[in-house]
Amino acid sequence: MRNMAILEIKNLHVTREGKEILKGVNLKTGPGEVHAIMGPNGSGKSTLAYTLLAHPKYEVTQGDILLDGESILELTADERAKKGLFLGFQYPTEVAGVGFSHFLRTAYNSLSKALEGDDREVFITVREFQKYLKENLEKVGLKEEFLSRYLNEGFSGGEKKRAEVLQMAVLKPKISILDEPDSGLDIDAVQAVAKAISQVSGKDATVIVITHYARILKFLDKLDFVHVFARGQVLKTGDASLADKLESEGYDWVLEQTA
Ligand code: ADP
Ligand code: MG
Repeated sequence: MRNMAILEIKNLHVTREGKEILKGVNLKTGPGEVHAIMGPNGSGKSTLAYTLLAHPKYEVTQGDILLDGESILELTADERAKKGLFLGFQYPTEVAGVGFSHFLRTAYNSLSKALEGDDREVFITVREFQKYLKENLEKVGLKEEFLSRYLNEGFSGGEKKRAEVLQMAVLKPKISILDEPDSGLDIDAVQAVAKAISQVSGKDATVIVITHYARILKFLDKLDFVHVFARGQVLKTGDASLADKLESEGYDWVLEQTA
């Protein structure tokens, strides 16, 4: 078994506190694909990301989410993570008292146990795992000292975003959803994060990058599909050139075309 899965979102309707935010989202991703979801602020991108990982405040009222053909709607966040889903948060939370490297090791081992039978590296000793972490730190451009700090505590905005990508790199999920990994970063950091995403989006894993701006997408080695997300739906899907068009012309033409 390899690190691959198919995600299907079918006619997904989601409400938060009684208000409908997702209004029939359809999206399918295959192994090894890199997808971008682009859309205006407030269109429901984070809602989609949270819903995929079972955030308790979001209620699915219609439709389904399938992983390898099976509905995951009844599964908790933790159960979905153990099936190989990963979410990199738009606004990562600081977790005082939880050591970053301890967190990564615990999460890695727990995921490896859940994905038994998949071809995942086994690290017997803490030292071996530290070596693996250091290799990945380099990829995302974080210094080694971060490993001895608490998860996200006192990290700058850019460091938090790199830390999310580090988690993805280390944990090797089957499907990663990164919610605005570029927001609040200067251009050098955007490039570094994009490079890290490219390095870790292995040949079998799927990466979904949610973003407001096309700039991060230019730095990705590979981008298979671009989805325009607005009004709580995927309105249009195209290849990488669609991102350029959105950057130069904005979203209005898509909204008009699909009104
Ligand atoms: P995006 O990530 O595309 O900017 P969001 O998914 O964060 O959009 O938000 C979608 C919509 O849901 C917005 O209209 C937003 O105001 C609304 N929303 C977000 N959080 C809450 C909340 N806590 N309570 C009520 N509405 C919310
Ligand atoms: Mg958002």
